[in-house]
Amino acid sequence: MDIQHPSGSPAMLADLKIVNRRSVLNAFRRGARLSASEISQLTGISRPTVVKCIRFFQDKGLLISRGKGPSTAAGGKRPEYYTLSESRYFICVALWPREMRACLYSLGHTLLGKLVLPESLPSTPEEAGRQAAALAARLLREQCVLPQDVCAASVSTSGTVDRATGTLMFSSHTPQWGTHVHLLDSLSDLLGAETPILLENAGKMCARPFLLDDALKSQRVIVLFTTWGVSSSFIERGHITNGRRSLIGEVGHMTVAPDDPELCGCGSRGCFERLISPQRVRRMLAETLEEIPDSVLADRAETCRIPELFRASEEGDPAAQAVSVRLARIFAPVLRNLSLAFDPDTVVLQGDYAACDSLFRETLLREMEGFRYYPDGIPFQLLTDDRPISDMDAEGAYIALDHLYFSDPELYRDEEEE
Ligand SMILES: [Zn+2]
Repeated sequence: MDIQHPSGSPAMLADLKIVNRRSVLNAFRRGARLSASEISQLTGISRPTVVKCIRFFQDKGLLISRGKGPSTAAGGKRPEYYTLSESRYFICVALWPREMRACLYSLGHTLLGKLVLPESLPSTPEEAGRQAAALAARLLREQCVLPQDVCAASVSTSGTVDRATGTLMFSSHTPQWGTHVHLLDSLSDLLGAETPILLENAGKMCARPFLLDDALKSQRVIVLFTTWGVSSSFIERGHITNGRRSLIGEVGHMTVAPDDPELCGCGSRGCFERLISPQRVRRMLAETLEEIPDSVLADRAETCRIPELFRASEEGDPAAQAVSVRLARIFAPVLRNLSLAFDPDTVVLQGDYAACDSLFRETLLREMEGFRYYPDGIPFQLLTDDRPISDMDAEGAYIALDHLYFSDPELYRDEEEE
């Protein structure tokens, strides 16, 4: 990859220069601290070329010197170490149904600050956009960061999105907002029109950390996001499949029980998301308590959270166990249908249902067994990941912005060539 072709055309040499710069900067992503010799070893690019590339990014303010390390074993010169600048940032906002959040990361992946507002979404998208920008502005002020030092931003939302235009196509959580909704205008005013802002579906944001999971890298994976909503990410060859209308993965709105009376925000009845929602689970619990009143959850039917229900079930509470079995019987056909659509090697439950108890899991697997298209048993492993979804969202947003920002070809070009 090094420039070793003095006979090459000027255009080819310019291309090689950019390839080398890209490799050098890549080595620093996610906070690595490296010397020129180490990068040379990592990338196979000659040390003098690495040094030139480091200068180039120092001039741009993207790399900084972190001082000299101890001298090498051979007693050579003390190497100088570099990292990504600590004064360039990504800001990651979440506009979730019951929580608005902003996280500030350094380019090198240090989480510098976080603000959370536990509030419902406003009635208009304009107000939601304004509140998101105000929260971001407050976080920047608190961290003494100027908006112009933010390199890229993201907004995580429920619903389907058009990433190219940054438009929310529709969310069943805010049907009153309508379709083709603009959420990013105020944030763009704050950060400047030049700063890229990625709008992404929350489920897909929360699934991104799995893209970096070595154990899953060669697998087809479905990550099922469950909590205030249900959606999924279909991961294949290290990518989350999206589709032109970003419909792939909106499994919360798969019709599971067409005769169910509850109307979903999407305009349909019988959606998977409605059948396993926290409100529905509480209703199931209330019904069950009428028949099995002797329960640790006897006075909790109004407030019980899904993880609490599973905990009670695990501890042998009969009412909680009855609800756990009912929920597993709703999940089983959905997972079977998903396997027929995508044939995953792994399905990961994330959010509330990651807290499922052993009875839920046993019932779920038993319900799926015996399907004759599974001649060797259930063809995927079922994992649960109980890391908080807000943390997964922030981490996923960092991963997305890291990818977005460092993919920009402008970063690697000489100013005068522009
Ligand atoms: Zn629906």
